[in-house]
Amino acid sequence: MSTDRSPIVGIDLGTTYCAIAHYDGGKVRFFTNPLGQELTPSVIAWDRRSQGMVVGRQARDILATRPEDAAALFKREMGRDTTLTIGDRSFTPVELSAWMLDALRADAERALKCAVTRCVVTVPAYFNEAQRFATKRAAETAGFTVERVLNEPTAAAIAYGLHGAAPAGDTASGDTASGTAPTDDEKRFLVFDLGGGTFDVCVMELFEGMLEVRGVAGESRLGGEDFTEALVKFALEDRDFDQIAREQPDDLALVRKRAEVVKRTLSRWPRAELLLPEGLGSDVVPVSREAFERATASLRERMVGPCRAALRSAGLKPDDIDEILLVGGATRMPGVRAFVQDVFGKAPLEGPDPDRVVAHGAAIQAALCDDDAGVRDLVVTDVASHSLGVEVTREIAGKRHVGFFSPIIHRNTVIPTSKVEVYQTVHDGQRAIDLEVYEGEARRVQDNHRLGVVEITDLPRRAAGSDFSVRFTYDLNGILEVEARLSGVDRVFRQIFHREGKILQGDELIRAQDRIRGLKADPKGRPRYRDALTRADLLWRELPAAQRPILDLAIDAFESSLGDSDTAQMESRYEALNQLCDQLGGKDRW
Ligand code: ADP
Ligand code: MG
Repeated sequence: MSTDRSPIVGIDLGTTYCAIAHYDGGKVRFFTNPLGQELTPSVIAWDRRSQGMVVGRQARDILATRPEDAAALFKREMGRDTTLTIGDRSFTPVELSAWMLDALRADAERALKCAVTRCVVTVPAYFNEAQRFATKRAAETAGFTVERVLNEPTAAAIAYGLHGAAPAGDTASGDTASGTAPTDDEKRFLVFDLGGGTFDVCVMELFEGMLEVRGVAGESRLGGEDFTEALVKFALEDRDFDQIAREQPDDLALVRKRAEVVKRTLSRWPRAELLLPEGLGSDVVPVSREAFERATASLRERMVGPCRAALRSAGLKPDDIDEILLVGGATRMPGVRAFVQDVFGKAPLEGPDPDRVVAHGAAIQAALCDDDAGVRDLVVTDVASHSLGVEVTREIAGKRHVGFFSPIIHRNTVIPTSKVEVYQTVHDGQRAIDLEVYEGEARRVQDNHRLGVVEITDLPRRAAGSDFSVRFTYDLNGILEVEARLSGVDRVFRQIFHREGKILQGDELIRAQDRIRGLKADPKGRPRYRDALTRADLLWRELPAAQRPILDLAIDAFESSLGDSDTAQMESRYEALNQLCDQLGGKDRW
């Protein structure tokens, strides 16, 4: 532990809202921004009047009317080699996040009247190591030492008191932290997080005081803001939306702002009214909760898929879930709560405010890092959110093919971890190996994200098939160390992957998925063959490590028969692959 004794704060660096809190005297206390609010919008803007940068609420108001002068949703870009513009200046996502973190730190320092230099910062469970590293870098840029990069669902579980570390009634506002008494029993729960622009589902397990992430899934373009937008469209139903967007952007911005208020009102009351601005005739549009729920039904339907996927990757059914934890401001909507109850057949736990729960848990984790005597012992472990491995070649039907992904640390492996895998050289007298390191779930490296290469050089000349071992070590902050050595040779080739790299998310991810589909278009153009391969490929990603090899065999067998003139064999392998996919869970398990 560091000798610096400044307090450690917990920070939720959210896509749409941030919060910062501190565990003090057995309570979690939230720091407020200069406007007195505990939630600060994650927006940064150039204020023409004051000729300076502004953060938070003021920046969000600028975003609504002059979007070119503001930057928002930059969390989505973390870990990517890209910039966002504010006016005529461009900033990296790390710089913008650092700016937010700096503002949050100032809020804490104002309240604590001392320097605040240490933090626990949270990230979504699905963040890969580049994104985690970018987040850490942002905090460091803002002058923090990062004590822990914590998964958001883990933070939520801590805040709900599921592990027993949070004493009851530990928020400054007097909320109780937990609806359940801590037990030593094994418990499985699902964290349902609907924020402003993202939907994340995480299945976790508590076993002998250890919290483990078992499966994650989500939808990176679905959140509370889509509900607001649906309400805007509902209110402007009989008008030409595109024309208003083009010709009356200020009026539309005002409708959006009012729709946000109406949306929140409808979480508490059965009906509300939306007053259209003068430019749109000053009409009063009455909105009932029923009407709002009808207008947003398709948004809730999109949540079913990720719930299934998270359960599937944890190998569980809805019935296996003991508790459901709600996270994210948008889960305050009664329609969303009813949806959760419908899907899982049980009511979610009552806990801290869903939009503060992540920062709350981060603050408790901060106290744990600081050995705060008021917090009981808790071991938090995590799992790798993506598989990590190397590119290998494979012999299929007598021919050597390149570009296959060989995972070394499988997705959902408990971390920190260190794993070794042994590979063989391909050529006689091979002097060098370029060990390409990838992250992802696809069988082919081209569909995964490349982290970089470890160059192994000056090898002694040996026959093809000589062993060399590759060790992957992955820690809780998402830093990956790769070591390679040839058997009998002392030299170790080592590389650490924690630089910002291009990563697969958002549009890139969609493009990669399209590529997979396109990739399979060739084999004699038969849609059902193509579909079988696509399905097998997607299923492969969801399968636990132990089941992957058997599917591998079936896919390879089918693929290698595709070029043949033996159509009977092609057909029988197609059947075999399909049956295997059915067996391994390609059919609904619900
Ligand atoms: P994030 O994690 O994305 O930064 P939050 O968890 O703070 O964000 O959730 C923000 C979303 O929650 C916004 O879309 C906001 O409109 C919505 N929200 C907050 N309070 C309510 C409420 N009372 N009713 C409905 N939606 C709400
Ligand atoms: Mg959030």
